[in-house]
Amino acid sequence: MRRTRTLTGIGIAAVTLLALTACNSGSPSGGGEAPDAEVADDVALEGSPTYDAMVERGGPIIGVKEDQPNLGYLDVTTGERSGFDIEIARWIAGSLGFSEDDITYEPIASANREQALVNGDIDYYVGTYSITDQRKEQIDFAGPYFVTGQGFLVSADSEMTEVSDVSDFNGMTVCSATGSTPIQNIKENFPEISTEEYDIYSACVDDLLSGKVDAVTTDAAILIGYAAQYPDELTVLDGLFTEERYGVGIPKGDTALLEHINTLFTDGGDKWQEIFDATLGQSGIEVEQPAVDPVE
Ligand code: GLU
Repeated sequence: MRRTRTLTGIGIAAVTLLALTACNSGSPSGGGEAPDAEVADDVALEGSPTYDAMVERGGPIIGVKEDQPNLGYLDVTTGERSGFDIEIARWIAGSLGFSEDDITYEPIASANREQALVNGDIDYYVGTYSITDQRKEQIDFAGPYFVTGQGFLVSADSEMTEVSDVSDFNGMTVCSATGSTPIQNIKENFPEISTEEYDIYSACVDDLLSGKVDAVTTDAAILIGYAAQYPDELTVLDGLFTEERYGVGIPKGDTALLEHINTLFTDGGDKWQEIFDATLGQSGIEVEQPAVDPVE
């Protein structure tokens, strides 16, 4: 694996990200106006049981996150969902002939994603979902459609902003989500770091703000959104010491749906960039669309 134990250059990265997030404190979701998803009227997707179920039901049930600004976020006052993952989910739905009104969103925590797909509770999942071999035993992934890496969120006024190596957290408590790749990485590779876990990352952020934990660890793309919510209190140490490749989770064996989504990503023209610019790109990060994996 491409995991290393050191966070080379973490201090420099922290300064850069601080500057990037400083310009993004205006909106709670951090998202701009995303282009409306076009709804296809000539869909011919043969041999996809998942698609057939969506048609019969009159729309897709999509698993999402709803507490991750810029990525998958629900504004509880307006009921609006926003973020990069939400727009990717809408793009896919549109390509399958479904409009926003046809979509049912289902919030599902990191630990419960595979089971939701295996049970048929959702048709597909778009929510900071890293492609891993272990998960691929139960489900399939379209994509990747985004690449990030594990980082740390710390209090801006603490000495943890000076951290230069993951082992500097030895003897401290870091918080992450149950069933996520970041918590597994800490438990497996850094046994001297204590862990706190919740279903959702926003609960970890609350603990960091109240001083109950020393850091929150998960993908840098997620942490940047929280830092933008609390620009004076929180800072991202972005060492990217893993590679997290986001895929769209789909039921195992639905190759027709897998190929449909991959073709969308490959042949989508500027659409990916438009979605990125209107959502995650607002935080100042610059990332290119990755090439999709070949179907095994
Ligand atoms: N991308 C990581 C994962 O899939 C962390 C983010 C998440 O929990 O959704 O486990």
